[in-house]
Parts: sequence; C-alpha cells; structure tokens
Amino acid sequence: MLVRDEGDAGGERLSILPKVPEALHALHDAGWLLIVCTNQPIVARGRATEGDVIALHARLDTELRQAGAPPLTSWRFCPHHPNATVAAYRQQCQCRKPRPGLLMDAARDFDVELGASFMVGDRITDIEAGRRAGCKTVQVLSGEHAAARIETPDDVVDGTPDFLGAGLAEAAAWILIQP
Ligand SMILES: [Zn+2]
Repeated sequence: MLVRDEGDAGGERLSILPKVPEALHALHDAGWLLIVCTNQPIVARGRATEGDVIALHARLDTELRQAGAPPLTSWRFCPHHPNATVAAYRQQCQCRKPRPGLLMDAARDFDVELGASFMVGDRITDIEAGRRAGCKTVQVLSGEHAAARIETPDDVVDGTPDFLGAGLAEAAAWILIQP
C-alpha cells in the first residue's frame, strides 16, 4: 500500500502515505527491485480503460518521485473480474490476487527468484498471492487490511504473514534485516 485512495476508483484523490518514499529508497538502495501488483476491477466494470490505469500508475510514479521515492521497477495490474460487466474482462484469470499470476509474470520478466522475494501488502489477498507465489510475506496495517478476502475456487492457503507491520517503513526495516 503506497497511497491512500480517498475518493472513488479512478484515483482523483490519492495521497502518498507518510514515510513511503523513504522506505522505498531504503529498499532500492539495498538493491531490491520494487514491483507493484494491483487488482484493477474498475476496468472489468467498464469504469476505466487499461489506458486509464496505466496513466494513473504513471501519475503515481511521478508523484512518488517528486516526494523523494526512487524509480519503481514495474507497475502491473489485473483488469479482470469473474463477474465483469465488460465481457472481454469476464474470466477467472490467474492474475487477480489472491492468485499469484502478477507475481509470477513479474518474476519471469525480471528474472526474480520468488523464494528470495517479499510480497508486501495491506490485504489478506496480497498475503495469499505472495504465499502462492512462494514469496515471504509482510502485511502492513496502513491500508484496507480489514477488507474481506477475495474468494476463489483455489485451495485455501495460509494467510498469515511472515511479518506484520504498521506501515511500509516498518516492513522495509524488517526486510532489510532478514538473512
Ligand atoms: Zn487478471
């Protein structure tokens, strides 16, 4: 969770959470790739296009940089939903978290070893996706951690994170002391 969405979907009122740029910098400086993986069902609902999401991510990337964050490696999203109103996006895809497709694709594209990687997220859905991908997991309490988990037909996976932190700063500090 890098930003707080204070408005409806579409990101008109996004604010960068405190200490996020510094935390990202600490990880970047230690050599970590920083890859964002998000579900964007607004595309499936016909309320935004994939281009809109890409533009939103570009804007967030710019705002993070202006706030002192390092460049992020990649922004990736799932535009699908099993009950999409737009037929083209109506599917049980592999990329909508809690499935691990976004993470697996990123690992392939950037030659990342998932078992040596960390999935940081605010939702149980993020933790489940991380576990399915074989990552270590960190849950942060700075976002919508109370949101209900997303049901899938998949086998249940343990949604307990390896570490629970107040925010990205605490998550980064923990990651940086791991062996
Ligand atoms: Zn998808």
